[in-house]
Amino acid sequence: MIALKVKTQYRSEFVDITGDVAKAVRKIGISDGIVLIYCPHTTAGITINENADPSVLTDINLKTSKFIDHNDPDYRHGEGNSDSHIKSSFFGASETVIIERGKLVLGTWQGIFFAEFDGPRNREIFLKIIPG
Ligand code: ZN
Repeated sequence: MIALKVKTQYRSEFVDITGDVAKAVRKIGISDGIVLIYCPHTTAGITINENADPSVLTDINLKTSKFIDHNDPDYRHGEGNSDSHIKSSFFGASETVIIERGKLVLGTWQGIFFAEFDGPRNREIFLKIIPG
């Protein structure tokens, strides 16, 4: 297992980690297999989406924050970050990407993102690279 550090700057943001994942795969030196990208936090997640136009992520952030309110009087969790926990489950804790000839197999416009929902924080993600 490989641990990568991610430093976030805002309460809610998407950090492009594609380069860091690709670098870790190159360092391990396997040709074919899969890489599991795992987030061990309950108020963050991992997602794959467009990395060409940053407006896409701005829109995702805007829309999810509209339908998952920060301050809903019905929330029971006392920490005041129920929206962050809900978004974490909504986006999910992991993604799996195919590795072929040492490279990540992603669509032309795809990137891998750490999804922060309760930042800014120093976070960690785990990678498991499985040959095959
Ligand atoms: Zn909480």
